[in-house]
Amino acid sequence: MTAKIVDGRALRGALEARVAHEVEQLSREGPVRLIAVSVGSAGASDVYLRNQSRACQRVGIRFRHDRLPESSTQEALTAHLHALAADPRVTGIILQMPLPAHLDARAAQAKLDPRKDIEGVHHANLGKLTRGTAVLAPCTAQAAIHVLESENVPLEGAEAVVVGHSEIVGKPLALLLLDRLATVTVCHIATRDLAAHTRRADVLCVAVGKPDLVRADMIQPGAAVVDIGINVVKTEDGGSRVVGDVSADVAADAGLLTPVPGGVGPVTVGMLLRNTVFAAQLQRGHSSGLTS
Ligand code: NAD
Repeated sequence: MTAKIVDGRALRGALEARVAHEVEQLSREGPVRLIAVSVGSAGASDVYLRNQSRACQRVGIRFRHDRLPESSTQEALTAHLHALAADPRVTGIILQMPLPAHLDARAAQAKLDPRKDIEGVHHANLGKLTRGTAVLAPCTAQAAIHVLESENVPLEGAEAVVVGHSEIVGKPLALLLLDRLATVTVCHIATRDLAAHTRRADVLCVAVGKPDLVRADMIQPGAAVVDIGINVVKTEDGGSRVVGDVSADVAADAGLLTPVPGGVGPVTVGMLLRNTVFAAQLQRGHSSGLTS
């Protein structure tokens, strides 16, 4: 079997078309506005910010980047987040990670307005996730689900294995799979025999950050494999390229595979936009015109 390779950019395109339509409707009452807040000159953030800004432009969401100085105190960051929470012109807020080491990220996330928390990282939104009532859930976890559902992968009763248990990807993804009645196993750094778990998976989602962690001999033939990892590796000619956590040879045996780049990454951007629409609808008392 050769895996169907998921076209994440096409999925993002379809999401953006629906989002653009909703944004046009919402904008009749006032613009939809997304603010990205960063502190200092954090490493990878600039690439993400550029992508976010371009994506917003494509769908008619107004985007602004507030860069606070590297030396900002926790109090200054809190004050900024409170001001954004109180500003009715602000629809959504992204607090860009990582923060400088002297700042407490979790304490800062707790200062977001949960109705504007489009990345679903505020504890109120994470709490709703455990109840299955989250409107704003972490975008990458939602993106993995969106890929599986768009490709009609059966989830009810499926053996789903999630590798990685971070707060932002692995844990929320496990909860979203549980909501869909998959039988979920979560593996992590202390899992004794990773291959024994991954080989049982009908649906395998990998979010670790280690190239070639999952190889062809570790999957069940025909499995749906969602590679969430993003790793920059050196090439022989001295350059670099981006790869996921799953070896390329998995494509020969899997039923479905998300490539890196071009798989879950673009869909995550689409989810960010979709969540911004959800946030606007939540704040303006509209029922949502968008579904998964
Ligand atoms: P993290 O560092 O917070 O978590 C890594 C997880 O992997 C932990 O649960 C850890 O226990 C587990 N782990 C580490 N080594 C392992 C091993 N040998 N075997 C099994 N589990 C192991 O990372 P994160 O923020 O969840 O991100 C994971 C990956 O996903 C990274 O590569 C990141 O760049 C990528 N990512 C992609 C997107 C996207 O939009 N595609 C978004 C967020 C993160």
